[in-house]
Amino acid sequence: MQGKIILFTAPSGAGKTTIVKHLLNTNPKLSFSISACTRDKRGRAEENGKDYYFITPEEFRKRIEQDAFVEWEEVYEGAFYGTLKSEIERIWSEGKHVILDVDVKGGLKIKEYYKERALAIFVKPPSIEALAQRLEARATDSASSISSRIFKAKFELSFEDKFDAVIVNENLQDAFQEAEELVNKFLADDEVFG
Ligand code: 5GP
Repeated sequence: MQGKIILFTAPSGAGKTTIVKHLLNTNPKLSFSISACTRDKRGRAEENGKDYYFITPEEFRKRIEQDAFVEWEEVYEGAFYGTLKSEIERIWSEGKHVILDVDVKGGLKIKEYYKERALAIFVKPPSIEALAQRLEARATDSASSISSRIFKAKFELSFEDKFDAVIVNENLQDAFQEAEELVNKFLADDEVFG
């Protein structure tokens, strides 16, 4: 019995986390792979062990040495994020499919590793200007964090053609529907859990 992986990647602020949360709320076959990361928790908006496992750089290094990650990245300078093998195994052992929210490089590594067992979806903002406005409206990141996210976004947008599908998030309801259709089709093909 084999589970599948659905991975969402996008420049920060493109709306992928909202889309991932929507899918989790509407599809009981999916379970979120909680990444480990070394950045600070965003106050009360996030919970340890739910959004991320917030760990120290020392703990993160230890996990790298233990080969505990499927992939890991220094996504922003000094901020490490990684997908834990134990998370994927836990979810599959519960008879569910894994849903992941990772950066572009991590997404490409996971797709390369799991191949047709993974559906790699790239979520795109309508424009860089729209992305900047969203990050400012979110008001969770400092000005320097926003500018590094925009710098990175411009680079990440050049990789969209390497993914299985692209969703342009202009209107959230349309993006939800498109995501649901892609996921349902992928899971229906050669359904493994019956
Ligand atoms: P944020 O700090 O906004 O929560 O996330 C920053 C970026 O890190 C996002 O693009 C998010 O998808 C990515 N990210 C989260 N977890 C992982 C992971 O396990 N691996 C990789 N490569 N990127 C991740």
